[in-house]
Amino acid sequence: MIVNNSLDEVKKRENALSIIKDWVLNKSRESLYDLTGLSGGFIASPSEIDLLETYVGPAIFEEELQKVGIEHMGGEKVLPLNRTSSGILATILALVSENTNVVHYLAELPAHPSIPRSCALVNANYSETDDFNEFTIPENTSLVVITGSTMDHKVIDLENFKKVIEMAHDKNIPVMVDDASGARLRTVVFNQPKACDLGADISITSTDKLMPGPRGGLMAGRKELIDEIKIKVNQFGLEAQPPAVLAMLNGIKNFNEENLIKSFKRKDELLNLLNQNFKKFQTTPTGVMITPSDLASELKVSHNLSDNDVAFVFSFILLKEHGIITIPPVSMPGASATIRFDLSTSDAFNLDLEDLNKKIVSSFNNLEKLVINEDECREIVFNF
Ligand SMILES: *Cc1c(COP(=O)(O)O)cnc(C)c1O
Repeated sequence: MIVNNSLDEVKKRENALSIIKDWVLNKSRESLYDLTGLSGGFIASPSEIDLLETYVGPAIFEEELQKVGIEHMGGEKVLPLNRTSSGILATILALVSENTNVVHYLAELPAHPSIPRSCALVNANYSETDDFNEFTIPENTSLVVITGSTMDHKVIDLENFKKVIEMAHDKNIPVMVDDASGARLRTVVFNQPKACDLGADISITSTDKLMPGPRGGLMAGRKELIDEIKIKVNQFGLEAQPPAVLAMLNGIKNFNEENLIKSFKRKDELLNLLNQNFKKFQTTPTGVMITPSDLASELKVSHNLSDNDVAFVFSFILLKEHGIITIPPVSMPGASATIRFDLSTSDAFNLDLEDLNKKIVSSFNNLEKLVINEDECREIVFNF
């Protein structure tokens, strides 16, 4: 075994970051390809950065975010948050009281954990279902939740979306939509309306999912509700700070619908190329992936490595030889070692897929040579 415990994972991450640093200093940032899909962006000009003071920053950028954010999300007012989870927590703190019911409909379980956790904090009774025929709104319900697109990018059926909102509003119950990736995935790729335009009272999106923004949340909705939630947000320090607000504003302005549509189409093209040499790659909505056990089963040589170790060695070869960053080398301890090539972020837009395919094949050929020598595998993962 090469990567055996959390300390090994910390060490492999330090090695990965040092490879990335050397690459940027000795070659260039442009020749690196971050295909993690998690490359939270921070677009800002020097003159904008000069305005990032505690009070001047919000005075300028929050005002502009009202206009740009409402265009992106709909609704009457927007509220920038530290994360999507912060917005979910604040909404539940503001609108849900003890012993009331919160019911949640989503296309596929599980829900994001921040929703049940927030309900538990206020002692509400929470239930979730992905079976529309089972979804009901009982008496004494304080909030109805809908997820627009799940963590795995499963998108809600539009008719069900509309019906749940109608059922809630028939009973005068507010609707909160967790539209973390959905605010873009649903609208741009699946041509669905914005959640607020469908009648949602509150909708929250994540500003680093499928757009070039920072980790953060943006809430939109009815003004009186947003004001009520904003009190909790400020009381508990859940708001986005000026640097994040600036980067959100510029992230939304630089969000390019065509690039997103292109990544959804290009993933099939990449899979077709990979299928010439491999059997086990699968598509995700925004790219392709291969699990550690599937990757190990592609190897034709015998070796003593675990499946995860095979995935770590492969991902380090991709990084060291081709500057391709995937999640396994840089991840925190305990994260999945599945290798994804995400085509939705900026480094992928100009990538030639035939070239990417060649790099993946060449890395795999090197993997077959390396796996038989455990010491060399250790060397590439830890640099010792
Ligand atoms: C990512 C995600 C969240 C949480 O976003 P954070 O910014 O990490 O708080 C919530 N819900 C869904 C469906 C998500 O995909």
